[in-house]
Amino acid sequence: DVADLPGVPEWLPDHLREDGIEELYPPQGEAVEAGVTEGQNLVAAIPTASGKTLVAELAMLSSVARGGKALYIVPLRALASEKQAEFEQFEQYGLDVGVSTGNYESEGGWLADKDIVVATSEKVDSLVRNDAPWIEELTCVVSDEVHLVDDGQRGPTLEVTLAKLRRLNPDLQTVALSATIGNADELAGWLDAELVDSDWRPIELQKGVHYGQALHLEDGQQKRLAVQNNEKATAAVVRDTLQDDYDDEGNLKEEGGSSLVFVNSRRNAEAAAGRLANTVRPHLTDEERTQLADVAAEIRDVSDTETSDDLADAVADGAAFHHAGLARGHRELVEDAFRDRLVKVVCATPTLAAGVNTPSRRVVVRDWRRYDGTAGGMQPLSVLEVHQMMGRAGRPGLDPYGEAVLVANSHDELDELFERYVWADPEPVRSKLAAEPALRTHILATVSSGFARSREGLLEFLEQTLYASQTDESGRLESVTDDVLTYLERNGFLEIDGGELDATSLGHTVSRLYLDPMSAAEIIDGLEHWQRHAGDADSGTDEREAAEGGFTTASELADEATAEASGDTDPDEISALGLYHLVSRTPDMYQLYLRSGDREEFEMELYEREDELLGPTPSEFEDSRFEDWLSALKTARLLEDWAEEVDEETITERYGVGPGDIRGKVETAQWLLGAAESLADEVDADVARAVSEARIRVEHGVREELVELAGVRGVGRKRARRLFEAGIADRAQLRDAAKPVVLAALRGRRKTAENVLENAGHRDPSMEGVEPDPDVEVDAT
Ligand code: ADP
Repeated sequence: DVADLPGVPEWLPDHLREDGIEELYPPQGEAVEAGVTEGQNLVAAIPTASGKTLVAELAMLSSVARGGKALYIVPLRALASEKQAEFEQFEQYGLDVGVSTGNYESEGGWLADKDIVVATSEKVDSLVRNDAPWIEELTCVVSDEVHLVDDGQRGPTLEVTLAKLRRLNPDLQTVALSATIGNADELAGWLDAELVDSDWRPIELQKGVHYGQALHLEDGQQKRLAVQNNEKATAAVVRDTLQDDYDDEGNLKEEGGSSLVFVNSRRNAEAAAGRLANTVRPHLTDEERTQLADVAAEIRDVSDTETSDDLADAVADGAAFHHAGLARGHRELVEDAFRDRLVKVVCATPTLAAGVNTPSRRVVVRDWRRYDGTAGGMQPLSVLEVHQMMGRAGRPGLDPYGEAVLVANSHDELDELFERYVWADPEPVRSKLAAEPALRTHILATVSSGFARSREGLLEFLEQTLYASQTDESGRLESVTDDVLTYLERNGFLEIDGGELDATSLGHTVSRLYLDPMSAAEIIDGLEHWQRHAGDADSGTDEREAAEGGFTTASELADEATAEASGDTDPDEISALGLYHLVSRTPDMYQLYLRSGDREEFEMELYEREDELLGPTPSEFEDSRFEDWLSALKTARLLEDWAEEVDEETITERYGVGPGDIRGKVETAQWLLGAAESLADEVDADVARAVSEARIRVEHGVREELVELAGVRGVGRKRARRLFEAGIADRAQLRDAAKPVVLAALRGRRKTAENVLENAGHRDPSMEGVEPDPDVEVDAT
């Protein structure tokens, strides 16, 4: 009973009852018995939707009630705002909640006054690196989705961060929440924690596979579920779920319900939502159509992009897509409409399986393979991931049980999917820390922030990681560590004196910038190469100037003509493409994949624009290096197109990517170019201004003349161009502009125009009664 919880604030039981929670779920009860409200470390491995969040809240609230401070680590930035909103319900009892994501370099001083802080593991890692003083005041840390320590990309950061937090404060309560995994006991051993390992669920789950004309469920049941006309199996399942279910006497047994469809990419999520809209549309009532039209209009108001339009179109028909590339406003609208049962089907990517806290009657796992760049080609998802997605099926109190199905295209596949996923247990999680890129980054950071000052101290620290507790290969950690130390010393990040370790000034900078040291080395090499090369170009210019009194050759004239035609006023200016290519070839940028038809095209590009690149092109005989160089060029060309205001749709077609991918590349480039600016200072390269300009242009996706306008909140690249065409060139002009002109340039959207004017500092942004200026003709492109 919620009245019998030791250690929690006195207001909590009433608060929980108001939320409809009278009794704890059994695993929550076990957690309390294990001491989670009394400062005890805990690993809770329980299925999705079985109330992990409350376990975390019990730990944090009781810790704060004892005068402490809690940190909640989320695996994805997109989930931070969701958790923040969840915890803000406690602000009415005087608790302060803060969220910290992005911007890796700051120490987040303002978070010192918060009782509960929500942050990604990368952000926490960077706060530790930047010596945020309040980190030492933490009394409780919750790690959500801790099974992701298994992730090769981001797992090591989580692992090292937890180890550091625990070392900084030996009394820290650690609560780790995990999906059901094969070896939760090992995690508990690593964290000196009590273990709650349970597969209890608030609502029963039936897993199965759709094949042919039937749903095959794990209990042996077969439900007839016919595929009509030319529809796909997924559409058939979604349609069947929508239909009311009657018993033999014609009584309504079950009202139609909603489905959640998991696919393997953002693009596929968008495409599937578009198609499933056709399936849903005929089932909507007039009332629903009207309400959905309102939601669609709100979606269009959030932003003026292709994605926004596509989403609004699908939502108007009762379907939606959901992935990490969506704007926060879009995500919230979709989740609310799904919870309100207006949107009947959501197509989502697996990354957000954990985030969409929106149970539905059925879950369809449509794709069980996903493209994996490192492994090359399509790879099957893990059992753990598939089970997590499936766990979203079933609405407590509404459905008798949830159904979660995979889709098979042949009889063999039906058998395979049962073996592989339905009957299988989730895999054990394994630390990925011993991979060299991970250790490179974390060893430098560990030394730089003073956690270890000697080789022995470093090894002792690494002993506290999950990796050390899992490995039986003695000596492996030590030998990789030595390799990494040698690399870091050779590249000037560390000094090794006997057994003593010391980060150089450059090493400190790199650690604070949150870069992979190898990225930093690449960037520095590129900048230094350019400086040497610019020196050559300088002397070239001198020679030309010296020769000017004499003859001018025809080819010199031609050169100048081309330089002028391309707007290339200063031959010594570092090229934006060169900078984009430089950051695209670092290990911190996930490069675009070179499709078979691309190779020729980008080889041509390479020979045309080789001079702009910062560093020598690898020989074609060095197969993989040359290939990487071309992929980086493709990525750089995308960034260049974006900064040249090429429209989103053209870019998505030209490079075979989704709008979310463009955003991802742009954000990474922004961060890496920011880092390049700092590194340029460190090595005295005189390029900071050019780098900064390239960064700002890629940030807003605009040519130089729009940089200022696009920086006004709510404007963005398309609107900046329209305002510019209407004669408004900068922020000051926007502030003083005539309202009808602004309104016309923004295509008569009053709310948008008011927002934009307000953000530009207009004294009276109200558009009431203002008519658009009919004389403003704006070129839509
Ligand atoms: P998880 O984080 O494990 O995926 P959640 O914590 O989001 O799951 O819980 C799923 C739902 O169950 C939430 O809507 C939550 O309010 C509800 N819930 C949690 N604990 C209880 C409880 N003891 N009694 C009733 N409902 C609960």
